[in-house]
Amino acid sequence: MDRVKDKVVLVTGAAAGIGKATAALLHREGATVIVSDLNGEAASALASELGDNCTAFAHDVCEDSAWHHVVDATVAEHGRLDVLVNNAGILATAGSQTVEDTSLEQWRTVQQVNVEGVMLGCQHAVRVMRERGGSIVNLSSVAAILATPHIFAYGASKGAVRQLTKSVAAHCGRMGYGIRCNSVHPGVIETQMGDAVFALGGGDAEQLKATRTAMVPLGRFGVPDDVANCVLFLASDDAAYVTAAELVVDGGYTAV
Ligand code: NAD
Repeated sequence: MDRVKDKVVLVTGAAAGIGKATAALLHREGATVIVSDLNGEAASALASELGDNCTAFAHDVCEDSAWHHVVDATVAEHGRLDVLVNNAGILATAGSQTVEDTSLEQWRTVQQVNVEGVMLGCQHAVRVMRERGGSIVNLSSVAAILATPHIFAYGASKGAVRQLTKSVAAHCGRMGYGIRCNSVHPGVIETQMGDAVFALGGGDAEQLKATRTAMVPLGRFGVPDDVANCVLFLASDDAAYVTAAELVVDGGYTAV
């Protein structure tokens, strides 16, 4: 209990899936939680559900001005930002996206949310954290480690998140800011996005799921709390000496 007591935490894409589970867990563990999402209504509903010490914002992570608004309002209200969880992300814009059938527009849309959104989050977090330190947790994926032929743009975007995380960590470490920055790499997690993966390959989605489950050493897909627990660790002071790390949360899938 209370592993992030009194920390001020911002979770993006918090209205659903991994972001929602993470916001709820950090809140249970004593943090003041700011939940933001493109879907402002769903973010507000979550804030009402969680109750005290939770505020919601409608927030498109691609927009620099929106980051200014959310981060500055957080600092004005709470005096600081201790933890940023860059969770918001999208899989693909339409159907299968191999190297042959990904349009430049589709490619850019995925990079805009998954890479530019995280980059802007890191910039704004460093801006307000550098006086007193903090923790930035970026949601990457096993897609940063393995080939992703049907989600070509997504894999590249998550590779970029893995890499930029290390640059932020190294810069902040050398500058003596006390800011840690780490990436989390989930395998298939049971969320809307996790389900959508199996609709992209063109085959029988149920058959693909069964085949893929059998390839996970722990014998199941992950649930949002499996990832939230790892984010909690990286957000907390238990991870005081952990920076530039990539924490894989995939039931052993990438190891076999
Ligand atoms: P999800 O689709 O269930 O939820 C994503 C949330 O992000 C939604 O609430 C959506 O409204 C929000 N969002 C989308 N675009 C946004 C934008 N421009 N600005 C703000 N919010 C926006 O996804 P999830 O499965 O919970 O995934 C969360 C993160 O974890 C993503 O970065 C994803 O790439 C990563 N991830 C997921 C899996 C998986 O299997 N589910 C695996 C590896 C990595």
